Amino acid sequence: MKTAPLHTPPSKGIIIALDGPAGSGKSTTARRVAEALGYIYIDTGAMYRAITLAALREERSLTNSDLAPIVQEYRLELTVSPDGQRTILGREDVTNEIRSPEVTKMVSAVSALPSVREAMTKRQREMGQNGGVVMDGRDIGTVVFPEAELKVFLIASLEERAKRRLAELAGTDSSKPDDERMTLEEMCHQIGERDKQDTERLVSPLRKAFDAIEIDTSQLSIDEQTERILILARERIDKNS
Ligand code: C5P
Repeated sequence: MKTAPLHTPPSKGIIIALDGPAGSGKSTTARRVAEALGYIYIDTGAMYRAITLAALREERSLTNSDLAPIVQEYRLELTVSPDGQRTILGREDVTNEIRSPEVTKMVSAVSALPSVREAMTKRQREMGQNGGVVMDGRDIGTVVFPEAELKVFLIASLEERAKRRLAELAGTDSSKPDDERMTLEEMCHQIGERDKQDTERLVSPLRKAFDAIEIDTSQLSIDEQTERILILARERIDKNS
């Protein structure tokens, strides 16, 4: 797989690794922190989602040997646009499609495969090697950039995370009648399953790096989360300069 860099990073800055389970507020916070610092934001979940979409389209069985060629053949590109990061697979903009329920359901199985993880980790290291990045994911502080200057691990209660996800879907999926939307209980189940798969996989499981700062976002607004991380980031940037 070929992954084009987002663009040439600004002057060398630090690497900020933001990990945590689904719905903990990583992506919105990471994007805001990156904006405030003039850094690049990289959503690594989008990369695993794009591979999953390719695998589903090609009707591959989700095994290491079946997916290894997909990882090699597809061109995956992350680009920046005024409304955020876009994910391009081949020549197609799949930014919206990678959020479909089908992809969400299968992505944890795909991202547990060693051939997929190895290729994505390599690309992520290339993208972040010059610093000046905020990268969000599950294994950024533990595997991709264990030497990151700032590592934050976001957590929130399962119910709070499910509520956020439902609110997000209600905002983007107004075409669906209310009775087709997931209930809170269904969403808790879906996120719980994904947590379990991401935490229990053998390769690069979701876990807090020993030197990561844990922030429980259950009671925090996005502004408050962003502010806390910015304070930590500025301390590290000052120390580095
Ligand atoms: O962040 P998001 O929920 O979009 O990630 C989708 C899935 O991609 C996660 O549930 C996880 O299985 C996988 N992932 C991963 N490692 C990362 C980022 C995402 O395994 N660094």
